[in-house]
Amino acid sequence: MPCALCLQEAELRRSHVIPEFLYETLYDEKHRLQVLSIIPEQANWREQKGLRERLLCDACEQKLSVWERYASLVLKGGVSLTVRQEGNIVHISDLDYRQFKLFQLSVLWRAGVSSLQFFENVQLGKHAEALRQLLLAGDPGSPERYGCFMFGLKHEAGVFTGLIMQPGKVRLSGHIAYRFVFGGFLWAMFVSSHDLGAPLNQCTLSAAGNMAILLRNATDMENLVSFSAELDQMGRAPSR
Ligand SMILES: [Zn+2]
Repeated sequence: MPCALCLQEAELRRSHVIPEFLYETLYDEKHRLQVLSIIPEQANWREQKGLRERLLCDACEQKLSVWERYASLVLKGGVSLTVRQEGNIVHISDLDYRQFKLFQLSVLWRAGVSSLQFFENVQLGKHAEALRQLLLAGDPGSPERYGCFMFGLKHEAGVFTGLIMQPGKVRLSGHIAYRFVFGGFLWAMFVSSHDLGAPLNQCTLSAAGNMAILLRNATDMENLVSFSAELDQMGRAPSR
């Protein structure tokens, strides 16, 4: 089987689609992953050892792990960032655009090329090849393409990390995006051949390493109407 990223014939590793560090808080006492679905007619998912499949060769797995390590430090602490909170909006500066963007792209791409049923709603079409080439080249591309909105999920007083949801396609402000929930965040990743443009691009990660995260209650998440309204509100938020 060829590696999905470099296309070379190689022994493939059992790769995580959603990086392992994001599962750390999700395993129960029997080390099974609690996977919930917001689609009411579907039962909760339980999978052994996370969602993995033979996808990448060793070299490509290591390439992605560098960006995953950086993202892990950003999300769990360990890199120096400037953080400023205004109400429910958290402005973050001093991010490494290249590494954090490539991390986001790698999750989107892996979900798109995965054959696991859990990721069946992520259909990237021609964007799968465009993303593969960016990842292979280590090129984060333009901040205007494949941008990602991040929502920090609060649950009562704390941060809500114990939830992963089946990714789905959503339409936000006229753009197609794929919604992922893992690691305590809702990630809305835009997939379009057109630039994101203002005001949406004020919240996605900029080339200068700025990003805005909107905090919201995990219990409100199913309401995509309010989700969309909040996005518009976020787009009008004062810029960084
Ligand atoms: Zn490879």
